[in-house]
Amino acid sequence: MNTPATSVADYASRAVGPIILLGAPGAGKGTQAKQIVERYGVPQISTGDLLRENVKLGTELGKKAKAVMDSGKLVSDDLVCDMVAERLSRPDCARGCILDGFPRTVGQAEWLDGFLAARGSKLPLRVIKITVDYNKLLKRLTGRRTCPVCGTIYNMYTNPPKVDEICDREGAKLIFRKDDSEEAIGTRLKAYDNDTLPLSDYYRQRGILTEISGDSEPEQVTNELFRALDKVSI
Ligand code: AMP
Repeated sequence: MNTPATSVADYASRAVGPIILLGAPGAGKGTQAKQIVERYGVPQISTGDLLRENVKLGTELGKKAKAVMDSGKLVSDDLVCDMVAERLSRPDCARGCILDGFPRTVGQAEWLDGFLAARGSKLPLRVIKITVDYNKLLKRLTGRRTCPVCGTIYNMYTNPPKVDEICDREGAKLIFRKDDSEEAIGTRLKAYDNDTLPLSDYYRQRGILTEISGDSEPEQVTNELFRALDKVSI
């Protein structure tokens, strides 16, 4: 068992285990995952980012996923699980990782359990669900802009860049995700209700789910998240 961490270096060297971030699109999973990366030194695995990268590179996976993603529907479990298996097998995941946007269906969660068991993983799985008021989600998604170079996420209503549509750090023109259109947002939130909400019960029944509110300022949410993660000694 780890003794309590006393320094940032301490956090970044201890076993962490896979941390699943659950939450609707726009709940702040990506933003919070970046804070966990900084504190605990484990990689963020965002299936949305990995898929978008495949689309950009024009891989076979990217070609299969593109239209489904643009519409806001979910890519098939088979494709996503194969992609995650490859990513989780890399050495940087040895101490743990943050799964951002995965699993998104009970089928994917069952696959993950089997994958971790087959690898003899002794590190406990932890699940943090970030809940956010529906109207706030809509505002966050329609206002979201991302820097294509450094990945910084802005919001045109609540956290705009200093110069309109330009990244403060990189000077690059910010991008508006195609699936952040109002129509696709509706489909994505429906997919979340139908396919991803049942995951809360799946993990709650195992006693490994912690729910935190994502309605407050990002820094406050981060503090609550760290408190939840630090509570469990592994
Ligand atoms: P995100 O960036 O997490 O909002 O994901 C963007 C899109 O990628 C989703 O709307 C889906 O089309 C696809 N996607 C990402 N993660 C998954 C997943 N775990 N299962 C199925 N599709 C996914």
